[in-house]
This record gives sequence, C-alpha cells and structure tokens, in this order.
Amino acid sequence: MSRTDPLADTRPDASTSTAWRPRLRLSQPDGLAAALEASAAASAPAVATEDVVFQFNGVGVKYGEKRAVEGIDMAIHRNQVTAFIGPSGCGKSTVLRCLNRMNDSIVGFRIGGQLLYHGHDLYGPNVNRVEVRRRIGMVFQKPNPFPKSIYDNVAWAARNLGMRDGLDERVERALRGAALWDEVKDRLKSSALGLSGGQQQRLCIARAIAIEPDVVLLDEPASALDPIATASIEDLVHQLKTRYTIVIVTHNMQQAMRVADRTAFFSLDDRRVGTLVEYRDTAGLFSRPQDARTRDYITGRFG
Ligand code: ADP
Repeated sequence: MSRTDPLADTRPDASTSTAWRPRLRLSQPDGLAAALEASAAASAPAVATEDVVFQFNGVGVKYGEKRAVEGIDMAIHRNQVTAFIGPSGCGKSTVLRCLNRMNDSIVGFRIGGQLLYHGHDLYGPNVNRVEVRRRIGMVFQKPNPFPKSIYDNVAWAARNLGMRDGLDERVERALRGAALWDEVKDRLKSSALGLSGGQQQRLCIARAIAIEPDVVLLDEPASALDPIATASIEDLVHQLKTRYTIVIVTHNMQQAMRVADRTAFFSLDDRRVGTLVEYRDTAGLFSRPQDARTRDYITGRFG
C-alpha cells in the first residue's frame, strides 16, 4: 500500500508503523493524568490541545475488502455534544464505535491513520481495552438492560471493576445523573425489564455513567422511543455534557440541532465509501452549509 493510503497503517501488524506511540499504558492505575503531563511536552503531536478529547488524523476503516470510511480528519472537544449525521451506510456508527474500540471484535475490521485520545494513540500496541471501555462508555440504539434488578444493572460495571466502596451512593448518583432516581428510588430491587422503554434507556445511561467515564457515546439512543421519552433523553444529554464529553449518532437532523454543539455530516462518495463532508458548529452547519452535499442533505434533496 502507498503511504497516502489511509489504511496503510493497519492492525494487527501496526507494530511496524512509524506512527507516534503512547508511552503509557492506559491500564496504569491513576496514571493517566500524570503520564499525559509527563509525556506531553516530549511527544504529543501539536494538534492535541487541552480541550481536544479525540483527534482523527486520516482515519479509515475497512471490513475485509470493503472500505467503510476513509480520510477522516476531525477533533472532538471536551464537554461538548458532537453529533454525527448522514445517510444510512455512510459510516456514522463505524466511526463512533472506533472511539471505544467496539469494532475490534468484528472479523476483518481494520483501522488506518491515527486516532488519538487525549493525545495518545487509542490503537497503540500497549493500550488496555478494558481501560478504554472504562473511560469511554457506550449506549446503544435499543435499550439493553440486563435481566437483573434496577440496582444491579447500575452497579454492574462498578462491581466488575472492583469499585465496591460506597456502591449505594454510586448507584444513587448515577440514577440521579440519568434523571431516573425519583421514578425508581422505591423499587431498586425490581427487575429493570419492568421499566418503560424510555426509562430503560435512561437506566442504560445510568449504567454507563456509574463508573464515571470521561466520554459517553450514544448510538441513536432515542430512535426506538416515543416523542416524550425522546425529549427526556435530549434533556438528559444537555445535562450530561457538563460532566462528560458526548458523541451522538442520530438519523434525526432536528435532534442534532437540538442537542449538539458541533455536527459532523458524513456522506458516501461516488465509490460508496463513507467520507466526512463538513464538520462545524451546529448552527453554522444547518444555517450556512458550506458544501453543496450538506445543503442537499439538510434540505431533503438527498438521503
Ligand atoms: P451508518 O451508521 O452511517 O448507517 P455503518 O457504520 O453502520 O453506517 O456502516 C458503514 C458501512 O460499513 C456500510 O457499508 C456497512 O454495510 C458496513 N459495515 C458496518 N458494519 C459492518 C460489519 N460488521 N461487517 C461488514 N461491514 C459492515
């Protein structure tokens, strides 16, 4: 492959890559902040400014021989809501799932280019995937509570990670954070499966934030919900961004306008490969799109 091929630096043989590699293991206990400071001056690329959580540099993804996306360059900012919009199949979920290495288990998945998390290569050889999932939580399109009690759902990840101290307070904090506490505080031991769809999705958000991640990824979190439940999820997203960095995939442009600070519009190029067409502040993207493809999409002429 040529050097300009965004998939040239592919896994699993990336150890031969000349790309910058982190000096720390993400698994180091409590070591991330210190290690970031220690290594920043020496080796962090110039793009890794303080409020940049993720930096994509020419990222491309293949599933087997199929190129899903290529040439993604963008930065995702701290304590903002970033929305990914675009027609079906343009790679929104693929790109989202790259952010916490959810695609790794897919046979044939390969990522090229460079994806930095706080300036550190998320796909570097020493990165611990459990630690990645701890820092970068995810909520899926269809609410997927475990067949356990409300309490046990929220406590699940904390227990698995050995965070047993103050579990009751942790569960309450997460449920309050997900705007669900008042509705469930008297039935914490009841099955989560008895909750409504909207409550189940807020429970899944509580489950994700119970271990106090840095980032919450939301993959069409309201698309299976009715308008009232959708509104409560959108309100919640507004509240969550004060504590977390949020990335949300949505097929609903109005939802992106309502919740997102920045919006990325993806589309398919003439080879049907996903590409990032335009990425800017949400108001600007919807009111003054700079690319004709964005204009056509948001005015309903395409997609
Ligand atoms: P979107 O979220 O925008 O609908 P996706 O990220 O789901 O797009 O898909 C982007 C492209 O990658 C599509 O062509 C899709 O068929 C392909 N793709 C997604 N997941 C897989 C997979 N697990 N295996 C093979 N191809 C996949």
